[in-house]
Amino acid sequence: MTSSSYETVDCVVIGAGVVGLAVARALALAGREVIVVEAAEGIGTGTSSRNSEVIHAGIYYPKGSLMAETCVAGRRLLYAYCAEHGVPHINCGKLIVATNDEESAKLAEIKGRAEANGVEGMRQLSASEAMAMEPNLHCTAALLSSSTGIVDSHSYMLALQGDAEERGAMFAFHSPVIQGRVTDGGIEIEVGGAEPMKLRCGLMVNSAGLFAPAIAKKIVGMPSNHVPETYYAKGNYFTLAGRSPFSRLIYPVPVPGGLGVHITVDMGGQAKFGPDVEWIDDLNYTVDPHRADKFYAAVRRYWPGLKDGALQPGYAGIRPKIVPQGAPAQDFVVQGAAVHGVPGLINLFGIESPGLTASLALAERVRTIAAA
Ligand SMILES: Cc1cc2nc3c(=O)[nH]c(=O)nc-3n(C[C@H](O)[C@H](O)[C@H](O)COP(=O)(O)OP(=O)(O)OC[C@H]3O[C@@H](n4cnc5c(N)ncnc54)[C@H](O)[C@@H]3O)c2cc1C
Repeated sequence: MTSSSYETVDCVVIGAGVVGLAVARALALAGREVIVVEAAEGIGTGTSSRNSEVIHAGIYYPKGSLMAETCVAGRRLLYAYCAEHGVPHINCGKLIVATNDEESAKLAEIKGRAEANGVEGMRQLSASEAMAMEPNLHCTAALLSSSTGIVDSHSYMLALQGDAEERGAMFAFHSPVIQGRVTDGGIEIEVGGAEPMKLRCGLMVNSAGLFAPAIAKKIVGMPSNHVPETYYAKGNYFTLAGRSPFSRLIYPVPVPGGLGVHITVDMGGQAKFGPDVEWIDDLNYTVDPHRADKFYAAVRRYWPGLKDGALQPGYAGIRPKIVPQGAPAQDFVVQGAAVHGVPGLINLFGIESPGLTASLALAERVRTIAAA
């Protein structure tokens, strides 16, 4: 690589998923020159189109964690953004349902944790109150989260892209980042694909989702001790034919290691169950129909009316984990020079759920680090 053949730009954002798009928008709105380089043919083809599309309240995350803070702040920003930009969304609310006395006793603790995170609109319900709201539900008690909702994530991403482009951001698709290096004059990257290019930038935001650690490892000069390993935890969904039996999202009381098999709906009213947790070694999005067996048993605890044969394999998403199975849950990592010592490089690692909800707040955080 000779330095002379590089085109100089102010900021490069790697990845046009929901987080990269929100970051590109925030930087463009701040008056910075931005180019987004995306390996795929368009925006949001990765994890950003393989999730539950839930606007999370911010209930379960440890107080003071980046997940808690960016989820609560991001949710408020997201509702306002959707309202302003005509992005389809519904503030439908969610019920966390207990199906025995032991679970009922946990609801107060969940409410306390949510309120400590600043989540508004949490209310404990008796079984009869909850079942009056949702006649198909069976439960012994429930917790209503009225700030939870759903969003058409693709419309949201298109709106982010539109905002960014309006402020001059440029998008290069079919443009995988191959390698790079840190130099005195900025970060230099090589981009492959049909029209290869070489870019030198003052700010590089690595928002490549599942591939963010792999890219960081290919930047010569990025200290490897700050790059986490990558682990894949697949989430499988099963869909239900016909309309959803519930008007709110229904979640069981969480079990250690997961939120339990819950039911969500999309903007078209299609109900889906999941995601479950399946640790895998390779990227593979196929849903094994046999996994439905566990879903039937789990769902019938709160929806006894689920009929045999009603669930169809849907789709799967893969959580970009940075800690292995069994390790304590990892927070989002937004890593700038204060951590790794490389000026102008910001890495986003482990942006799993609630990354969609948190996207605008994460973007704000990146913009602040970049401006420091
Ligand atoms: C099963 C599941 C359910 C979820 N449900 C929810 C939910 O209901 N609510 C919520 O808030 N969050 C949810 N999430 C989390 C949310 O989907 C993610 O946090 C979010 O989509 C991450 O966006 P991203 O932009 O970081 O990553 P991605 O969407 O993966 O985008 C990364 C982009 O980088 C590109 N890329 C990769 N390598 C390169 C390269 N070398 N060069 C250039 N480009 C590259 C990829 O093509 C991709 O487009 C869920 C996640 C999963 C897995």
